Amino acid sequence: MIIPPRLTLARLPTPLVPLDRLTTQEGGPRIWLKRDDTTDTTASGNKLRKLEFSVAQALAEGADVLITCGGVQSNHCRATAVVASQMGLACHLILRGRPDSPSDGNLLLDRLLGAEIRFITAAEWADIDAIVADLEAELRVQGRHPFFIPTGASDEIGLWGYITASEELAADFASHNIQPGYVISAAGSGGTLGGLILGRHIHSLDTRMVAFNVCDDEAYFVNKIRDDMTRWQARYDHTIGDALPIEVIDGYVGPGYGKADEHVFDTIRMLARTEGVIFDPVYTGKAFDALLTEIRAGRFNDTDDIVFIHTGGIFGLFPQRNQLQ
Ligand SMILES: *Cc1c(COP(=O)(O)O)cnc(C)c1O
Repeated sequence: MIIPPRLTLARLPTPLVPLDRLTTQEGGPRIWLKRDDTTDTTASGNKLRKLEFSVAQALAEGADVLITCGGVQSNHCRATAVVASQMGLACHLILRGRPDSPSDGNLLLDRLLGAEIRFITAAEWADIDAIVADLEAELRVQGRHPFFIPTGASDEIGLWGYITASEELAADFASHNIQPGYVISAAGSGGTLGGLILGRHIHSLDTRMVAFNVCDDEAYFVNKIRDDMTRWQARYDHTIGDALPIEVIDGYVGPGYGKADEHVFDTIRMLARTEGVIFDPVYTGKAFDALLTEIRAGRFNDTDDIVFIHTGGIFGLFPQRNQLQ
C-alpha cells in the first residue's frame, strides 16, 4: 500500500464520551459521542481530518492556491479557508448561493479569512466541473499553481481522514473496553462514511459503519462511495474489491439539504439542555434526530453501545437562528 503525505492540523485523538443522561432518558443502547467537533476551534469538524491529506497533497504538488466548492454555508469551505491562511496559500471558493448572502456563520468566516468567493446558482452547479476548470486555467495564465479539492474533500485522497479515524476509534474502544455494534454519522458528500468503511476493513473493526444521508438518496451515496473506493484502491495500490457493504439509511432528508423541520430543532434544543452538546440543523442535528427515531423504533436493539460521530458544523447553526426562537 502506498502511504500518502499528511499534515498535522487536527487535535487528535478527539474524545469519545458517553451520553449517560440521554441514554437513561431514552433507554436502548448506550450512546457515545466521538467529539470530532473538537478537531480545532475555527477549522473544527470532520473536514479537517480529510484536509490533512488533501492539503498535504496540494503542497507536495507545489500548489500556491486551493480551490474548493460547496453550499453557501459549507463547513468544508470554511475549514479549507482556515487551513489555506494557516499554510500561506490563497483560497478560491465557489459557493452555491446568492451574491447578497448575509455575512453570517461560515460565510462570515470565509470572508474574514480573505477567501476569494464566487457565487453560482443551483442551476450553474450542474456545470461545476467546467467552472472549476475555467478558474484553474485562469489562475495558471496568471502563473499560479492551483489545486482543486472537491466538495467535502470527498475523493480518494480525503478518504484517508476517516481511514485513520477508524484506527483511532479502535484504540478508543479498547481503552473504554466497549464493542459498539455501530458507528453512526451524517453523510453529505460521502467521504466520512467511505473512509470509515475502508478503515473498518483495514483495521479489522467488528463494528458496522452506518450513515444517515442529509441530501440526495441512498443510491447516490452507494455509487459515489463505490467510485471513490475504486479510485482509492488504484491510486494507493491496495486491492480490496467492491464487496464491502455500504450502509446508508435514507428517509431523513426532510425539507431538503440545509433545511430541517421542527423535530430536528427540538432535538437540537434537547441535546443542548440534557448534555451540553450543540448540534447543527444541516448535518449532526438532522442525523442525530434520525438516530433517536430509529433507536426508539428498536432498530439498534442488537448492541449495548453505539457511537455517533459529532462531525462539527456549529457555525451553520447561527444563520438558522430564527428557527430556534
Ligand atoms: C460535511 C459534513 C458532514 C458530512 O460528511 P461527508 O464526509 O461530507 O459525508 C457531516 N457533518 C458536518 C458538520 C459536515 O460539515
